[in-house]
Amino acid sequence: MKVLIADQINQKGIEELEEVAEVVARTDITPEELVSDIKDFDAIVVRSRTKVTREVIEAAPLLKIIARAGVGVDNVDVEAATEKGVMVVNAPESTSITVAEHTMGLVLSMSRKIAIADKSVKEGKWEKSRFMGMELNGKILGIVGMGRIGSQVVVRSKAFGMDIMVYDPYITPEAAAELGVEVVDLETLLKNADVITIHVPLTPETKYLISEPQFKIMKENAIIVNCARGGIIKEADLYDALKAGEVGGAALDVYETEPPKDNPLLELDNVVLTPHIAASTSEAQRDAAIIVAKEIKKVFQG
Ligand code: NAD
Repeated sequence: MKVLIADQINQKGIEELEEVAEVVARTDITPEELVSDIKDFDAIVVRSRTKVTREVIEAAPLLKIIARAGVGVDNVDVEAATEKGVMVVNAPESTSITVAEHTMGLVLSMSRKIAIADKSVKEGKWEKSRFMGMELNGKILGIVGMGRIGSQVVVRSKAFGMDIMVYDPYITPEAAAELGVEVVDLETLLKNADVITIHVPLTPETKYLISEPQFKIMKENAIIVNCARGGIIKEADLYDALKAGEVGGAALDVYETEPPKDNPLLELDNVVLTPHIAASTSEAQRDAAIIVAKEIKKVFQG
């Protein structure tokens, strides 16, 4: 069996695969080379760089499994894979804690103005009175989407003494009771939350879920965080709401266009931005690589 590692993955995953297969790492493979060379491989491992298109899948007579070492399979043509009987696997659980930790980092960066204060001190200033913060203890955290990541955010924000409201039409009352959260409709959450954090997938239903009408009903000092996907928040409306003082601030890890070039949000002081790194810890990447390697082993071993 031969496995193509098309994007950089953790060494632990490679070692796992080497127990059952010949592993070829070509992490700079071009789309053209992939189409011509995939014919020799039984499995391919990607992260987000490599696109496993229909053309690639149709050029791969031996291919049995496509593994995405991470969350989501946006870069794999799942329909084409299904038609050809090729299995597609990913590791959605591998990054939940890591993304929840990044979310808490962004919440704290906003509530205590850490990023902007850091910039100010490095510019040689000492503007203590400019950076009056907001304590999280006793504040309401609104979680939109309480799946794997949202649930980890619940646990961490409770440790900060926050009260939690959740909007998620698909969670069961048992799951809500187990985590001790109040489930409300979106309007109630938006009207009451001091901090709002988004953890839903991007779907036709969630596209622009947070736009002008939603900003209009938020508290004017509310902080909104998005570590899920660009396009769930409508950036143009967020910019207008921030400029109009309808919301207090925003922290984003994901954007409608990545990287966010010529985006007016980049100019605002009450915005903290990170470059889609919420899942980027060595622990999460190691776990993702091991999980998908085990899936490939299972397929090879029948
Ligand atoms: P999950 O599937 O476990 O949870 C998603 C939750 O959203 C579910 O509970 C679901 O019921 C809920 N939901 C779906 N549609 C909804 C709607 N219309 N309104 C309200 N709730 C809705 O997913 P997860 O593992 O927690 O990940 C959440 C999202 O985070 C992913 O879809 C992914 O896009 C994003 N993510 C981003 C990064 C990053 O690097 N920034 C990394 C990992 C995941």
